[in-house]
Amino acid sequence: MKAWRVYEAGDIRCDELKSQSVGENCVKVKITCSTISPTDKSVFEGKLSADKLPLIIGRQCVGMVTEVGENVLNVVRGDRVAVDPYGFCKQCANCKAGKQNECEKMLTYGVDEDGFMRDFVVVGSDDVYKLPDRVRDEDAAFIDHIAISLAALNKITPEKGEHIVIVGANVVGIILAQVAMYQQAVPILVDTREDKLALAEELGVYYTVNSVDSNVQKKIFSLTGGRMADSVAHIASSQLPFSLSLEYVRRGGKTVIVDWGDAEDDNNVSMKPVLSKQLSLYGVNNGAKNIPSAINMLANRTVSVERLVSKEIPFAEVGKYIKEQTEMPDKYIKILVKN
Ligand SMILES: [Zn+2]
Repeated sequence: MKAWRVYEAGDIRCDELKSQSVGENCVKVKITCSTISPTDKSVFEGKLSADKLPLIIGRQCVGMVTEVGENVLNVVRGDRVAVDPYGFCKQCANCKAGKQNECEKMLTYGVDEDGFMRDFVVVGSDDVYKLPDRVRDEDAAFIDHIAISLAALNKITPEKGEHIVIVGANVVGIILAQVAMYQQAVPILVDTREDKLALAEELGVYYTVNSVDSNVQKKIFSLTGGRMADSVAHIASSQLPFSLSLEYVRRGGKTVIVDWGDAEDDNNVSMKPVLSKQLSLYGVNNGAKNIPSAINMLANRTVSVERLVSKEIPFAEVGKYIKEQTEMPDKYIKILVKN
């Protein structure tokens, strides 16, 4: 068994691992596909999980079950599955109340514990979700992004026809826009990169604003008939300034900061717009509990992710591309790793 492990900032190696035994409630998965996440890059750069090193990176993966423990009933050998990127304690008050997404001890694989950038992994049978035939492995590698988009929309609950400004046209932002359209909201996608906005337009997101060439506030004012947006989803991993996002939402509107906790702080954030407009403010950092819904959305083609893959690489080249990502973070929209 092989795995990509970060030893210290800037030092990643492909290690040979001992074969893991399969416990009675566990399954062994041969990983077929994974992606390089912003969190993987942050771990490599020493900006995240520095106290957890050495650590195997990789937060999302898809594969095929090759072995099952004797008590396992939900999957059989040969099933294609997505692996849950999150672990829950099942003991805390939130877990017992069914709010695993707010678990006191929630962990994310590849960030808090060894992740999935490897050829085989043994996980609990509760942590795998069977994939329907019509969902390709390559598309299933985006399940976590769809799940986190659903979690964000569950917070702001847009009504039919409401405008939602999405700041950040990275993978999460573009998928969030597609899910918002499915829920009959009207997304307005904002970014500084024309190529990302153009891709979003090709995927059906018809209102996009380039914040380099235009006055975003004025444009949103015009697109919303002077009301401004009912809600704003600020994609933290886009690294765009959060302070500006608060300008795009109407009085009494909702703002959600979405994504993983490795974003840079915006030191210009003021409480004033939150108070003067009496905004509701939320944070969503995981898609836990939404994975089955995310699989459904891929199966019924509600979300299109194929075009978001701008590079496919073999497993052996993960180290090379993680290094390249730190030098040129915007070169690819998403790198898919094929085992
Ligand atoms: Zn818990």
